[in-house]
Amino acid sequence: MDTLDVKNWHQMSADEVVGCVQTDTLKGLDACDVEQRQQAQGLNRLTIKKGKSPLVLFLLQFNQPLVIILLAATLITFALKEWVDSGVIFAVVLVNAIIGFTQELKAIKAIEALSRGMEGTATVIRSGKKQIVSVADLVLGDLVLLQSGDKVPADVRLLRVRELQVDESALTGESVAVQKNSQQLTHDSQLADRKNMGYSSTLVTYGTAVGVVVATGDRTEIGRINALIAGADALATPLTRKIASFSAVLLWVILGLAGLTVLAGLMHGESLLNAFMAAVALAVGAIPEGLPAAMTIMLAIGVSKMAQRHAIIRKMPAVETLGSTTVICSDKTGTLTQNQMTVQRIFAGHELFDLTGVGYAPEGSIQQNAISVELATKNALVECLKAGLLCNDSRLVYTGTGWNIEGDPTEVALLTAALKAALERDALEQQLPRIDTLPFESQHQYMATLHTDAEHESLIYMKGSVERVLACCDQHYLDETQSCQIDRAVLEQTAHQLAANGLRVLAFARKRVSSQQTRVSHEDIAHGMSFVGLQAMMDPPRPEAISAVLACQRAGIQVKMITGDHVGTAAAIAHQIGLKSVASQESNFAISGHRLAEMDDQQMIQAVGQTAVFARVSPEQKLRLVKALQSRGEIVAMTGDGVNDAPALKQANIGVAMGVGGTEVAKEAADMILTDDNFSTIEAAVEEGRAVFDNLVKFIVWTIPTNIAEGIIILLAVMLGIVLPITPVQILWINMTTALFLGMTLIFEAKEPGIMERPPRDPKKSVLPRNMLVSVGLVSLTLVACAFALFEWALYQGQSLEVARTMAINALVFGEIFYLFNCRSLRYSMLSLGFFSNRWLIFGVLLMVLFQLLLSYSSIMNQLFGTAPLALTDWLHILAAGFTVYAITGSEKRLRCYFESRAIA
Ligand code: ADP
Ligand code: MG
Repeated sequence: MDTLDVKNWHQMSADEVVGCVQTDTLKGLDACDVEQRQQAQGLNRLTIKKGKSPLVLFLLQFNQPLVIILLAATLITFALKEWVDSGVIFAVVLVNAIIGFTQELKAIKAIEALSRGMEGTATVIRSGKKQIVSVADLVLGDLVLLQSGDKVPADVRLLRVRELQVDESALTGESVAVQKNSQQLTHDSQLADRKNMGYSSTLVTYGTAVGVVVATGDRTEIGRINALIAGADALATPLTRKIASFSAVLLWVILGLAGLTVLAGLMHGESLLNAFMAAVALAVGAIPEGLPAAMTIMLAIGVSKMAQRHAIIRKMPAVETLGSTTVICSDKTGTLTQNQMTVQRIFAGHELFDLTGVGYAPEGSIQQNAISVELATKNALVECLKAGLLCNDSRLVYTGTGWNIEGDPTEVALLTAALKAALERDALEQQLPRIDTLPFESQHQYMATLHTDAEHESLIYMKGSVERVLACCDQHYLDETQSCQIDRAVLEQTAHQLAANGLRVLAFARKRVSSQQTRVSHEDIAHGMSFVGLQAMMDPPRPEAISAVLACQRAGIQVKMITGDHVGTAAAIAHQIGLKSVASQESNFAISGHRLAEMDDQQMIQAVGQTAVFARVSPEQKLRLVKALQSRGEIVAMTGDGVNDAPALKQANIGVAMGVGGTEVAKEAADMILTDDNFSTIEAAVEEGRAVFDNLVKFIVWTIPTNIAEGIIILLAVMLGIVLPITPVQILWINMTTALFLGMTLIFEAKEPGIMERPPRDPKKSVLPRNMLVSVGLVSLTLVACAFALFEWALYQGQSLEVARTMAINALVFGEIFYLFNCRSLRYSMLSLGFFSNRWLIFGVLLMVLFQLLLSYSSIMNQLFGTAPLALTDWLHILAAGFTVYAITGSEKRLRCYFESRAIA
């Protein structure tokens, strides 16, 4: 079948296409065909082509301002014939590049794996049955069903089309949706004009269709251009960009200071060689070599921790932004509630009925005043249940162990309700086969089906929101022969009362039409419908959502509910879940889309601050809501599942899509996907986001003082005209080993107590909190003082220069070790965190000490780094220096926290 690839499918008639791919337009392929074809054609999957080749990725590691300085230092030292220095500096550059390169590769792989994991499913017809299969399993000739929200899973020739609109921007760049049909095209046309084709990776925004697969995997149009997102750029976050621009500034500062160093050295009568070596020492000392790698690793770890907690990050910046979220706008159905619908009450023929039993198992009965009703006498009730059965696309299957559901839980609940009256779908559909469908679209809030029976009588059944259905009705069904005047006010009142108890209310209607009719359109149901009844279903809140909402509120994050459901239902559930608003009146606690529509932008901005529940909200209003919240300075996380939610998801600071119930379109637009559709997962992700950021700040606060101290030491020595207390290679040793063995262990620092009890971080504030500047300055100066003191003291004692330098190095390293314990938390003392609670840190410190001993005592190291063995008493001095750092920083932390808590009180 290989020759098929080149066919012009759009120019062939439907029959020709079907013949060509050897399939059946009604039954599709059978299992045997599928297996054979899968073996012959492989999986329907794109081979991922790297955006950048590994070599380019590696070379790019050198194209960073600070690395360029290091490369320059390599050249200078090389020219000065300082082989060891030159070699070590270059080694550092190489090691850095290798770490950066492997980290980046790993991150790209991880992102690829995640997107593979999110590979969707497709609905196909095989052996005459509707089935849901993995997209990768599709083969040539498969009959695919498309509906709004789907991503077209392969290239298909459309056979039957119902108002299909497709967003083909992935392929053509044109974002206006294209109207499709199934007509044969007579002449060749551009991709964008092939109206009878659906292309892989494009998004169905409206309508439904059936198509036959004509190309899979790399043979699809998208496979040919392979426009899969390349991972590299996806790694940048606001923070990494900030650091990058900071590095660019730092580059010039360092160059300036280095120039100054050379000048000062020459003025003090130093040789050119010494002056240059001092400049090199300053440059390598002031550069935080470990920072970029630490950042990527911490962000990557954040991503994997979030994945463990069911939140999949699609866009790296979300990891950071999550920590500063101030408002979460959440869907109700399925996210805050369990989406476990049970019909509890039915109103039909002026009477209310109760249904017993919970869940989807059809165990229970229909009662009035606690007595089971005689169904034969309740025509309207039976008709209402029938409407729920027939106007329904879901399935309820008994598997031997329990009841399995397929499709929308709202609809499954209707099947269960009907089964409680012994009404079965299959039997009923035999009498009244369905010949056409108007599928449910949340913008219409209704669904309708057309049925014809053996006597050639045709009926339309409709179900949907009470407002929409009542608007189409002009009479009230009582039984097959009678109907009465419709009293809208009474019906609305009844629906309102049901909703006030938190029940989701659906209205049902029907209409007799001519038996000639073969299609049902929006005009058909717009009037002349006969109201049949109401079914009210319970959807209990998720218990974990209740505690998550509380946790968010404590963390200074507002939670708002945004739903397509009725105001009454939404408000009742919101109260059960514990949503709060600052609105003084109950009428402002929950407002409906109608009221939003009447507001101008200014009023909207006012309202979003107060209101906790937005009901009957249209997708366009979701977008306005996000914008209004953002103009109040909020950082907004917004959930969505439908096609029309995509713009709001893109606008939100964090767009959150549902992994289970969401459409492909929503997932595509989202920054984060919830694999369990659960509100509490958002809260968990926020918590992880805060933890990642905390640890990043800790790393920065820990690492910066060393660089400042090293810079000052060199500058001071040059200005004073004394010999350098530490050489460039020694500085590199310190920076690399401490970043690796000490700094990195901060990654494993557990979440701080009370992490969800403080207000969200203001993303506009600098990464290094202002109140930490004092601390950073203090530590830097202490390090300088200790290093100088030990260095000069050793020289004064008549020790060799090598010994004195070894003292200075150890003073810095041990200062950093003690400071590391302080940086485990910027708020709490190390003892209150538990000394051993971060085992990696203890392990890292031990390794660091071991390496310092090696540096001081191994003769190879002595030769390479210009160090020398120390006496036991020297170590006591070094430890004393370390303690000094700890005492000073510890006291500073206590004082700072004391004054901060006084300032708040
Ligand atoms: P949400 O999921 O936020 O509750 P939807 O947009 O899914 O809101 O639904 C909006 C309204 O449309 C519901 O309140 C209900 O009245 C109606 N509705 C929901 N699902 C269906 C369906 N499958 N068929 C007909 N009407 C429906
Ligand atoms: Mg819904």
